[in-house]
Amino acid sequence: MNVMDIFATMEYGPAPESAAPALQWIKERQPFGLFINNQWVTPASGQYIDSINPANGKPLAQVAAANSTDVDAAVAAARTAFETWGKTPGHVRARYMYAIARHIQKHARLLAVLEALDNGKSIRETRDLDIPLVARHFYYHAGWAQLMSSELPGYEPVGVVGQIIPWNFPLLMMAWKIAPALAMGNTVVLKPARYTSLTALKFAEIMQEVGLPAGVVNILTGEASQVGEALLRHPDVNKIAFTGSTDVGRSIRRATAGSGKKLSLELGGKSPFIVFDDADLDSVVEGVVDAIWFNQGQVCCAGSRLLVQEDIADTLINKLRVRMEKLRLGDPLDKAVDMGAIVSPGQLKEIQRLVAQGVEEGAVMWQPSWACPTEGYFYPPTFFTNVAPATSIAQVEIFGPVLVSMTFRTPVEAVALANNTRYGLAASVWSENINLALDIAPRLKAGSVWINCTNMFDASSGFGGYRESGFGREGGKEGLYEYVQPAWEAQGKAQHAVVTNGAATSGEKMFEGMQSIAPEDDDVQTNGHSAWPANGGNGTTGLLPPIDRTPKLFIKGKQVRPDSGYSRAIVDPQQRVIGQVGEGNRKDIRNAVEAAHAASGWTNGTTHNRAQILYYIAENLAIRENEFARRIAQQTGRPLADASSEVEVAISRLFSYAAWADKFEGVVHRPPLRGVVLAMNEAIGVIGIACPDEYPLLGFISLVAPAIAMGNAVVVIPSQQFPLSATDCYQVLETSDLPAGVVNIITGDRDALCQVLADHDDVDAMWYFGSAEGSKLVELASAGNMKRTWVNYGYGRNWLETEQGEGQEFLRESTQVKNIWVPYGE
Ligand code: NDP
Repeated sequence: MNVMDIFATMEYGPAPESAAPALQWIKERQPFGLFINNQWVTPASGQYIDSINPANGKPLAQVAAANSTDVDAAVAAARTAFETWGKTPGHVRARYMYAIARHIQKHARLLAVLEALDNGKSIRETRDLDIPLVARHFYYHAGWAQLMSSELPGYEPVGVVGQIIPWNFPLLMMAWKIAPALAMGNTVVLKPARYTSLTALKFAEIMQEVGLPAGVVNILTGEASQVGEALLRHPDVNKIAFTGSTDVGRSIRRATAGSGKKLSLELGGKSPFIVFDDADLDSVVEGVVDAIWFNQGQVCCAGSRLLVQEDIADTLINKLRVRMEKLRLGDPLDKAVDMGAIVSPGQLKEIQRLVAQGVEEGAVMWQPSWACPTEGYFYPPTFFTNVAPATSIAQVEIFGPVLVSMTFRTPVEAVALANNTRYGLAASVWSENINLALDIAPRLKAGSVWINCTNMFDASSGFGGYRESGFGREGGKEGLYEYVQPAWEAQGKAQHAVVTNGAATSGEKMFEGMQSIAPEDDDVQTNGHSAWPANGGNGTTGLLPPIDRTPKLFIKGKQVRPDSGYSRAIVDPQQRVIGQVGEGNRKDIRNAVEAAHAASGWTNGTTHNRAQILYYIAENLAIRENEFARRIAQQTGRPLADASSEVEVAISRLFSYAAWADKFEGVVHRPPLRGVVLAMNEAIGVIGIACPDEYPLLGFISLVAPAIAMGNAVVVIPSQQFPLSATDCYQVLETSDLPAGVVNIITGDRDALCQVLADHDDVDAMWYFGSAEGSKLVELASAGNMKRTWVNYGYGRNWLETEQGEGQEFLRESTQVKNIWVPYGE
């Protein structure tokens, strides 16, 4: 080809990056050992595994295969290091992290080449995206280390953190995990993916270079069955952070259930890419390239479902085909290549299988005319049209360069199609009408929404999923809370044992500071007829029995009889029957969940309105303050003065959440781009709540109020032992203009009802304050739809204290952060 030919065709010439320095680096070090306590150690098994270059299928390096003995050693090193690192001043930690960021930049080229060799992704992406973002992550979190004591007062590190990362962004995922952990004073044992360990090992060298104290970060390469499993089951690990497939995430949820380990899961996706007919179609085409052919489509938030408004579908499809024809696929180290290799033969086979299934299902497949290299694991960009929304290629995460398209007519239809997935990681919206785009964004069930852009990431803006895409956030201030715990919880968890898990017992196991004595009030009634007043209050003298009051269940704003037709007796500390409540069952829970979903107007209504109603509930509770205090005293045997102060705090707490309702709104981020990111605190949806036995009214109010203040609807199981304080609230709620279905209350056997709630696929989160066994039950069952859980593992909290009983922890549990990216400029 001569110069004239090049002018005529504008064909790219090769622009190869040399692999020599990276290969030399590997040669000098392999076989690689494990990185424990800042030393390179031989694996206990003596075994090594090959790391393959996916672009040619040839072995690249040998890395150590760790087993549980190595996990024990690494966790012990991390534990010892935590004793010091956890107390190291934020400024000192910030200096180390700043140094790590600087050293990543110093070794940027080596890291970029190593990543391209090991993973098969293009050098263009590793050089321009992965490595700069890794450095940015450490710089950003160095800042949080510096600011921790002033910006997160009252919080402490969690301890030793086990981190398990995937192969699609090996170094970047490592940075997303390690940076916040170190910033908050934790120590780490990290397992890279089996296929892609090399950049993590180079990172270990960087930590040696900067002199990070021994044991703060330990890196164990090897197989999931040997390292991953041992790490997540290790009793001395306080938290697991995982990124990977939803199936493995689910198994990790089950394996850690009841252990008390904090857990964050960043899982799969099938993200919609929505194009309205007024979008700039040339930008859309480049957006699609970045959404699904970036990193060969091996991206958890890849825009793999193209949803196009019907009237422009043909035009866009044609434009995309033309663009696909021009994509360049080949040697990842060629800087003029758009797409590299698929990470492994197994992953390639899986893509081929799912594509074949799509063809069988009747979708129309289109691939460019050019052929892929025959050496290595390559797969061409692939585009399906004629796709039915329920088919497997429209629902299953393919994790390859495969785009499926569907059409819609109206914005409502677009939202319905977009949300027709079990996942909820990300979404893109394309329209030149910003009003339309900003109206659609909050209606999408996804943690990140990109307007007229896609696959944008920054350390300042949290990333994470809704629904089966997992829970927890990485990045932003919200990501820090995954690596801290309230100081009171860390220090005094054990000081309050939980009251009881089972059937009604006397008040003998009350919390510290509360005495179990009979109520002093002489007009306390019991339905056992052993103590009712001689005068019914109507001027009639003589022995009138009190009017029977049997609370039913509270569903959809109405008091309804339990489906079972059974009631359960509630007794006072002297074992006298003081009331009956409905015995709720599976069907009642289902009805309540349905009612809660029907109350979506509450979520979409104004925060001002929610605040007004919470104030009104407080007002109506205050009117009946004495009655509520007597009821607490009657049930628990606590002194009336003590019960009165519980009611007082409950009223004040309602005021607090009325105040928060229009203030816990979110923030605006300024990442390095022309534009903003709106981090909105959104309601989670329907939350199941099991209330503690201690403080029957305050426990109920402390949990329900923040949940509804933030726009959730709730299905509440009141204290099993003392449910009458919650059932007495029916009338308060009925007279406070609370829309039907926002609060639903089901009395009965707490753990049996919890099981139904936690199993229910239409419940989005579950809170449980009861026994250790009940907490485990909830965490286990939650794995079904990966609902968020908040449980107490059988530990009590002092609900009277503001620090423990109200505030931002409750608000955070009531919300999920959605980051809406809004670039601007022509
Ligand atoms: P996995 O979820 O299996 O692996 C992710 C990480 O978890 C790896 O480090 C893996 O180790 C480890 N791991 C796997 N099983 C266990 C276990 N039981 N206990 C502890 N750790 C475990 O992803 P795959 O690599 O197998 O990819 C399969 C599919 O997962 C992809 O096709 C894609 O759909 C999805 N995926 C999603 C990602 C995301 O970011 N959301 C990222 C990667 C994959 P090892 O490498 O040794 O197996």
